[in-house]
Amino acid sequence: MSYSLARQLLSNPIIKETNWVWGTKEDQERYMAIWLRDKFQCVYCDRDMLESYDTHYWFSHIDHLLPRSYEKYKELQNVKWNRVLSCCSCNGLKKDFDPDSESKLYVQGSLTTSDANREFWLTKARDFVTALRDARTKHFELEKALLRSVQLNEGE
Ligand SMILES: [Zn+2]
Repeated sequence: MSYSLARQLLSNPIIKETNWVWGTKEDQERYMAIWLRDKFQCVYCDRDMLESYDTHYWFSHIDHLLPRSYEKYKELQNVKWNRVLSCCSCNGLKKDFDPDSESKLYVQGSLTTSDANREFWLTKARDFVTALRDARTKHFELEKALLRSVQLNEGE
């Protein structure tokens, strides 16, 4: 994916007026290129990150597919293929889950990987996040039912 579209968008006065503009020109282009590559959607749950002002500005994160909290992936902190657009919820659920923990496909020091490996890790991470969200949602429904059943009396 080329950076030329990212550069072109960043030179548009409408974009110039927004929070897209931070860091160096290179940071901005890298950031926009990630959004473009990921089609403005959370890579884990497909949420449209342009859905609303709040979604775009407050609930969008750039996640590290192979988590930077692991020493072995520190070198991938700024590598574009490892940085993905994620909603705040999925990023929080995924946390430091390592989609390569069993497969060990990443070769430390290489800084590269194949599209197939990347797709494999994305699928692993998506499955992990989805299972965790489903389990927590079930429990949340119980909590919600309990809290909604509480009679709230004014003045107490
Ligand atoms: Zn998401």
